[in-house]
Amino acid sequence: MSAIALYARASAGFEDRLGHALDVLRTAAQQHAGRIVQATSLGAEDMVITDLIARHQLPIALGTLETGMLHAQTSALIPRIEERYGLQVEVYRPVAESVLHFVKTNGDRAMYQSIELRKACCGIRKLEPLARMLAKRDAWVTGLRREQSNNRGVVSFSETDDQGRAKINPLADWSWNDVWHYIASNDVPYNPLHDEFMPSIGCAPCTRAIAVGEDFRAGRWWWEDEKAKECGLHVHEEKPAVSMIGVKA
Ligand code: SF4
Repeated sequence: MSAIALYARASAGFEDRLGHALDVLRTAAQQHAGRIVQATSLGAEDMVITDLIARHQLPIALGTLETGMLHAQTSALIPRIEERYGLQVEVYRPVAESVLHFVKTNGDRAMYQSIELRKACCGIRKLEPLARMLAKRDAWVTGLRREQSNNRGVVSFSETDDQGRAKINPLADWSWNDVWHYIASNDVPYNPLHDEFMPSIGCAPCTRAIAVGEDFRAGRWWWEDEKAKECGLHVHEEKPAVSMIGVKA
């Protein structure tokens, strides 16, 4: 059964939340003109935000991290976005030498060996490229929602990251049903892996489908303790094992 069939239901107050999300985006685009980017993971929430940006012609750049470990279905969304909306997606890849050195030293399954090695992999493939994406920006937009996990229960619509940038989370109060209601109502392109019980999609080796009743992010780094389950992009209190930046994503 498709994700739309399973989840697309507006919860009470949806129109208000939609209007508020648009206000948050508009205000951020005005306040940070020319220096704001949506750091899209290409997940369902981020596709909603991209659609809002395109539909309302908001001057917010689009950027994504191509870690070299994404599912083909995820990477395929990049040209789909560009075709559908006529917007360019900035693609940030890891430094090839860093990846080669890491894999040569630790093997291509290092992420399963220890949290330190997994975070080091995230550092090379995600954090350093994100730092480049944000280098000339003073604000970024994410698809974080409070409902996504306990670690994210306090997400605000606007906060300051640990580099002093504004971090804008317009869908902070949206439910998973809201996200899919918007996608269904607006024919938003989305990752077909969401139809295979993958609500949260990251790199292929670190994502699996979830079972009925499992937590939203149970399919991410499933072999680790719940508290460790962030890649360093969205965690204030933890520094990445390989540290180039202090920002989150
Ligand atoms: S999610 Fe997995 S494969 Fe992707 S960068 Fe992190 S450890 Fe590496």
